[in-house]
Amino acid sequence: MATKKYYECERCGAKYLEKSLASKCFYWCKTHDNSCNLDIVKHAVRN
Ligand SMILES: [Zn+2]
Repeated sequence: MATKKYYECERCGAKYLEKSLASKCFYWCKTHDNSCNLDIVKHAVRN
C-alpha cells in the first residue's frame, strides 16, 4: 500500500523525495534554462 511518492521537477523531470528540492530544481531550471544545478540535482532519485 505504501507507494513511494516522488516530487518531480516539471522542467527537467528529475525526481525528489522532498518537495522543497523539487521546487528548488524547478525554479532553477526555469531561471537557468540551459544548466542544471548540481547541488540540487545530486539529490535527485534515480529509478
Ligand atoms: Zn529541474
